[in-house]
Amino acid sequence: MLTHTVEEGPLLNRFRTLWDEIAPIGRDPGSGGYLRFALTEPELRLREWFREQARLRGMPVTTDGNGNLFAWWGDPDAGDAVLTGSHFDSVPHGGAYDGPLGIVSALLAVDELRAAGVAPARPLVVGAFVEEEGGRFGVPCLGSRLLTGQITPDRAGALRDAAGVSFAEALGDRPTGADPALLSRLAAFVELHVEQGRALVDQDAPVAVASAIWPHGRWRFDFTGEGNHAGTTRMADRRDPMLTYAFTVLAANKEARLRDAHATVGRVAVEPNATNAIPSRVTGWLDARAAEPDTLTGLVEAVRTKAAERARRDGTEVTLTEESATPLVAFDGGLADRLAGLLDAPVLPTGAGHDAGVLAAHVPTAMIFVRNPTGVSHSPAESATDADCAAGVTALARVLEELTR
Ligand SMILES: [Zn+2]
Repeated sequence: MLTHTVEEGPLLNRFRTLWDEIAPIGRDPGSGGYLRFALTEPELRLREWFREQARLRGMPVTTDGNGNLFAWWGDPDAGDAVLTGSHFDSVPHGGAYDGPLGIVSALLAVDELRAAGVAPARPLVVGAFVEEEGGRFGVPCLGSRLLTGQITPDRAGALRDAAGVSFAEALGDRPTGADPALLSRLAAFVELHVEQGRALVDQDAPVAVASAIWPHGRWRFDFTGEGNHAGTTRMADRRDPMLTYAFTVLAANKEARLRDAHATVGRVAVEPNATNAIPSRVTGWLDARAAEPDTLTGLVEAVRTKAAERARRDGTEVTLTEESATPLVAFDGGLADRLAGLLDAPVLPTGAGHDAGVLAAHVPTAMIFVRNPTGVSHSPAESATDADCAAGVTALARVLEELTR
């Protein structure tokens, strides 16, 4: 269902037309949320849609050998390019806006600039990053980490999804990894993203500019005990890792609250996962975030200590493995101030990770947030009004015009 022309008419209508094209792709009819995992059929359709939209705009598409796509307005080799864009993939049953809004807005911003007769003095490139959420292969921002060399091609290529398919197999090739030549041709990256909290509702502003991303990471707790019969094993004789797991979840919640930090255990695996069996093993994944690196370290250490203490009481064992860690990202202060001034927009920190956070160590980077009236994200309840999305496009177009002057 591809369009064959670039739509004309009021921006609000053009936003809705483009949005409606991708809205059904990967939507689960039961939850209303999205199952757009990287390089699976729905996400591949979105990537095909992206290529078609780029073709309609006369923007050749290149890849970096890691699964990231780039559509160019201007010569890809010219250097000093301004990159904008986001990602198509979702968390399980995620919202419609997290990711795709940044790509759709970027395409519409190109249309706005062209309609206004703006001729950028340097290349403008719209990017679609692969596996931002880590929903399929477990490592968030995998595409941008590969591009910047934060993960090796061997390690990334060997990551496997729940069905045992490796990232290299899904990609069709071993990822090529760091591309310093491409990074050196980028003068700036601006990622537009739906806001993932309620800060803008309270400020009565349709868009904001990001100041920083909290340090955050993912830790895996493996609790092991003794699998046994639920009916015949006396309570006193049990070594039940579910108890240690449950206590650890509550401890994570308490320790995070004490520090004004965030801790979430949103994923768990149980073996043998039978109603009438005491589990032999429980694996839980902790997502932890805090405003300061020391706070985050202290939080994770406190949870580790409490889990270990509880394991002694339960006769179980627990190990903790760091699966990913992302340091505090302070976005380019000069760029953020410049954008906030240009847009007359508030400046906000965020607890969410983004490809922009990964790119920020290599390229002057900024983010624009679009108001989310529910404040909910990573859920079907995530939302943004068409009017605010159009305001986001207008803001992005102004920023891109300024940066490509
Ligand atoms: Zn996102």
